[in-house]
Amino acid sequence: MLEYVGQFYRLTRMAGRTTLAMGWLRAGIARKRLVKAAVGPSRNLKRGISMSEAANSVTGDYIQMDQVDWVPFPEGLCKGDIKWKLLHVSPEQGAWTAIFDCKAGSSFAKHIHMGPGEYFLTKGRMHVRGGSVEGGATAVAPGYGYEACNAQHDHTEFDVDSEFYMTFLGPLNFIDDDGNTIALVGWRQVYEAWNAGA
Ligand code: ZN
Repeated sequence: MLEYVGQFYRLTRMAGRTTLAMGWLRAGIARKRLVKAAVGPSRNLKRGISMSEAANSVTGDYIQMDQVDWVPFPEGLCKGDIKWKLLHVSPEQGAWTAIFDCKAGSSFAKHIHMGPGEYFLTKGRMHVRGGSVEGGATAVAPGYGYEACNAQHDHTEFDVDSEFYMTFLGPLNFIDDDGNTIALVGWRQVYEAWNAGA
């Protein structure tokens, strides 16, 4: 964990931004508190389902999605009300899968997909790369999309309540307006963030 906190700190110093790093640091501190607590049922299982934690783990092979609570997506990586459920991480191939609940008026911060990704928009509307009126794409549920390696998403916006599922191969490189990296968010970073928030 310390190694990754250090990595974020360096990246953030490079970009001259502190807000995001503090968010991730807080996440790390929260996680340590969780580890210290380390007793009682997981929040994911607070409905009292007699399923072992491993059975609903993001490193396992099955998630009962309606038994996992939505968690706010890390601050600094989005604007507005975006919540997520991390569904899987694959350290062996650097892949991760999540579902996002994006309320009307929300958006993701500017990022580049270091590897390709596939999504399924299950509800609502998603304007990618500015949407179809600005040369990008507008997905309307039910819609499937493929985002190529190195796809840059300056604006990913939701003008109605929306939801999409996505698998990412490799990290997202969140950048500022000058192209400096703010945060490199791969399977390990989402895993850490999820453990801190879930
Ligand atoms: Zn994107």
